[in-house]
Amino acid sequence: MAVDATQPYDDQNVFAKILRGEIPSKKIYEDDVAFAFHDINPQAPTHILVIPKGAYVSWDDFSARASDAEIAGFARAVGRVAREAGLVEPGYRLLANTGPDSHQEVAHLHVHIFAGKPLGPMLAR
Ligand code: 5GP
Repeated sequence: MAVDATQPYDDQNVFAKILRGEIPSKKIYEDDVAFAFHDINPQAPTHILVIPKGAYVSWDDFSARASDAEIAGFARAVGRVAREAGLVEPGYRLLANTGPDSHQEVAHLHVHIFAGKPLGPMLAR
């Protein structure tokens, strides 16, 4: 179901459960503020999700409420994950869905990293 990004954080969302270790994930990277893992239903040859460890519903919530250290650490983690996966030279795409029109499905901020083939136009036509 589409996420209403104006709602308060619900700690029963699937990524909160992954962070707590209640459901498994294929971990790629972890530090104090960020966690990265493979998407369960990849939409490209490489499809990685990077999430903050803090409880933020969306990019809107994160950019409004997170500390400068969380925001800086998260941005660096996204870049590092892509770099260490060898994606800088071939290229990659970042996506952070926020709210119903974007088709956000999980109510914990996540940045998608897509790569591994020419990714085509930015949006479906
Ligand atoms: P959204 O549409 O919210 O931007 O993307 C949610 C993403 O989370 C989807 O690409 C979906 O495949 C992924 N996803 C949903 N549930 C799980 C899960 O339990 N584990 C993993 N690794 N990915 C999930």
